[in-house]
Amino acid sequence: MADYNFDLFVIGVGSGGVRAARMCAQYGARVATAEEKYMGGTCVNVGCIPKKLLVYASHYHEDYGDARGYGWEMGQAEFNWPTLIKNKDKEITRLNQIYKGMLDQAGVTHFDGRARIIDAHHIQVGDQRVSTEKILIASGGNPTVQDIPGNEHLITSNDAFYLDALPKRILILGGGYIAVEFAGIFAGLGVETTLAYRGELFLRHFDDDVRSMVRDELEKKAIKLHFNSCVASIQKKPDGSFSATYEDGQQIETDLILAATGRLPAVADLGLEHVNVAMRDNGAIIVDEDFRTSEPNIFALGDVIDKIQLTPVAIKEAMCFASSQFLGVASKMDYENIATAVFCQPNIGTVGLTETEARSRFADIRIYLSRFRPLKHTLSGSNEQSLMKLIVDNQTDRVVGVHMVGSDAGEIIQGMAIAVKAGVTKAVFDSTVGIHPTAAEEFVTMREAVSAAG
Ligand code: NDP
Repeated sequence: MADYNFDLFVIGVGSGGVRAARMCAQYGARVATAEEKYMGGTCVNVGCIPKKLLVYASHYHEDYGDARGYGWEMGQAEFNWPTLIKNKDKEITRLNQIYKGMLDQAGVTHFDGRARIIDAHHIQVGDQRVSTEKILIASGGNPTVQDIPGNEHLITSNDAFYLDALPKRILILGGGYIAVEFAGIFAGLGVETTLAYRGELFLRHFDDDVRSMVRDELEKKAIKLHFNSCVASIQKKPDGSFSATYEDGQQIETDLILAATGRLPAVADLGLEHVNVAMRDNGAIIVDEDFRTSEPNIFALGDVIDKIQLTPVAIKEAMCFASSQFLGVASKMDYENIATAVFCQPNIGTVGLTETEARSRFADIRIYLSRFRPLKHTLSGSNEQSLMKLIVDNQTDRVVGVHMVGSDAGEIIQGMAIAVKAGVTKAVFDSTVGIHPTAAEEFVTMREAVSAAG
């Protein structure tokens, strides 16, 4: 065997890269990592973690209102954006150090800087060139913006975490996770928020009842939703504000425009032209079920393969990779029934099939659906509603989809995901004793199917 400096060189220390590096080192491999931006990648720095902190911050606005119904009288609440950002940055710095510490503890050699592939076994980082038996590309993804006149005025989610000040008005483009989550954040913080989505109804891959429920709830919070609206151009005005023109000619005046129109794999400037790594049209690296690219000793996982862009998916992929490559225990990633949450307000939690998917896959399904006002809001005065939905294959009685819109939906769906993964039947839901009074008990008390098989 050739005498390489390392057994594995990991490019990118986001969720997938760090987990792979740590596990492979733990299994005895000599591992190196390289990163030119920040430890922890998108999730820690400009994704899941700071986003959730901002969601918490924005929800206090409603919490203060809700508290009045419970007898709390407070003076005028005031919000300070720089304080929030300063505290958020402090926490991110702490997490960056923890990630670095985890690599050090695992005995991983870390290089600060951009890694470029020289050939299938050599990597250049700054002025250092190292050899490695295997390479793992875990470089993640970057937000993309539409190719329209004036797109230099667009900001992305990366920028939204570092604004000097909140705008008075914001226009958010897109109808996916990031668009609805930031709509809730900005609206909760008092910004006049408009969301423009090109289709009939946003959150295209989610269950239709979930989508319409979220539409109704966002509208209750005074978020303006412009569907069938695609921005064609953007103009900056002399006073620094912007005018966005939709394809139908309608114009929107705003102070900031956030493009939340998807993320693309980060494959630029990695030196991929020096190796035989096949990619899809959008740059996603093509891998087999062992995360092997078309170059036999080069692997890729996480957002850069654009399979499912979620942190826990990248982590699980990394665990499978490490086990298969350095523990000698073959391990395949199971992409079925991956639960997910969208931290719009109220949250979405979902696992399994949508009703439309279930109808196309099974001849006969039963739907259980409940819309209700959560107990908390009987006194708070809030008119926010929750939704819970179960989709059952009639033939086997198996629960094939669980969906929720409501407070803490992400927390509640995690447990449901275990049950669905274990092949739970509706009879098991029915035999489960609820926890009273909770919203979650609704999942085990729904008895009447709302529609016959489709
Ligand atoms: P998504 O893919 O979720 O949504 C992109 C949105 O932009 C869609 O509504 C899409 O419309 C629209 N769009 C795409 N191209 C155009 C265009 N040219 N013109 C107008 N609209 C366009 O991407 P996000 O950026 O919101 O998030 C990226 C990924 O990150 C998510 O898919 C998710 O996997 C992950 N993420 C996860 C979170 C979580 O777990 N809570 C939070 C944030 C992100 P259409 O539907 O019509 O294609």
